[in-house]
Amino acid sequence: MNEGRRFIYLDNAATTRTNPKVVEAMLPFFTEYYGNPSSVYEFSGISKKAVTDARETIARSIGAKTQEIYFTAGGSESDNWAIKAAAEAYRQKGRHIITSKIEHHAVLHTCEQLEKQGFEVTYLDVDEDGVVKLEELKKAIRPDTILITIMFANNEIGTIQPIKEIGEIAKEHGILFHTDAVQAYGHVMIHVDEYHIDMMSASGHKINGPKGVGFLYIRTGVKIRSFIHGGAQERKRRAGTENVTGIVGFGKAAELAMENMEERARKETELRDYLIEKILAEVPYTKLNGHRTSRLPNNCNFSFRFIEGESLLIMLDMAGICGSSGSACTSGSLDPSHVLLAIGLPHEIAHGSLRLTLSEENTKEEMDYVAGEVKRIVERLRNMSPLYEDFIKKEKHNG
Ligand SMILES: *Cc1c(COP(=O)(O)O)cnc(C)c1O
Repeated sequence: MNEGRRFIYLDNAATTRTNPKVVEAMLPFFTEYYGNPSSVYEFSGISKKAVTDARETIARSIGAKTQEIYFTAGGSESDNWAIKAAAEAYRQKGRHIITSKIEHHAVLHTCEQLEKQGFEVTYLDVDEDGVVKLEELKKAIRPDTILITIMFANNEIGTIQPIKEIGEIAKEHGILFHTDAVQAYGHVMIHVDEYHIDMMSASGHKINGPKGVGFLYIRTGVKIRSFIHGGAQERKRRAGTENVTGIVGFGKAAELAMENMEERARKETELRDYLIEKILAEVPYTKLNGHRTSRLPNNCNFSFRFIEGESLLIMLDMAGICGSSGSACTSGSLDPSHVLLAIGLPHEIAHGSLRLTLSEENTKEEMDYVAGEVKRIVERLRNMSPLYEDFIKKEKHNG
């Protein structure tokens, strides 16, 4: 990126800008209070207290007890831990796990790994808005089901699941319920008791905190064993010297996120809806993916017929706009996104998708510019598309 180049960042589902207040809170723990929290002298007590304070802030933010929060190296580790350790601890009871087809790869690939070890996994379908069907969930439950893992909100299409109902179903059947709340935490209200959540994953860098730090909430009484063996950190369940700076930053980010969550959600929802309506109105043959209202406040995801999402992204980048495509091309695969296929999009339409995820720092003027650029670029790409040409000829013929 050129020095001083201005651009519009609309990829907050991938990561967020670390809040300068978070950085400020972290800094002293690099050079001044660098003690190891496990040491005995008073100096290291400062690091220890900072970790405890962050744990308390985070526990309070989801209605959990302090000792139920375990710090990890991020959302992926939390998902791996929850699922692998639950499988290990409850394998005497059964070997069946239920998840959905639209989970993050940290969940899906972990489940696939367990299948290789003899576990059976049911991948639930979702409806065209990306919502898990509760009746199908109930039907999938077997006497040997040990875990239900369903994400709180989807990272691609923003759909928020009926988590409370899923939690109730899990509880009625005495099955553990884990939710990947990486996209939801800090953006929507979460209460682990109200939603009957037994385990929950979250990550610092998705809420304007630092990268490489996350937490796993584990309800008291859940038989989860340690994930990293070694020292006695994290109540002997996750060894390794605490990432003190990261934890302090995550704690601060959580505090800030909780402080103005409603106001931020209101502002983002307004911008989101403005952009969605503008793009749907101005760009023909366009579809909004994901649920229209049960949706993360900052998520927009569109499919534009007759174009390639990758080309759109490159041209948006040239216009100074950072977005993301629905396809997984960037990760070295040409398959369209598993999420878009699961909501029933045909391959060719899933390929022409664009995710724009906002932050409270965005403005209406930026949305006007973005909508204008999207319209211009989509038109240009369509004018180069033989498929589009054929389509228009047929339309004229029929019309
Ligand atoms: C980003 C993300 C993850 C992974 O979190 P990391 O901290 O980057 O490992 C997991 N699940 C969802 C839904 C995500 O959006």
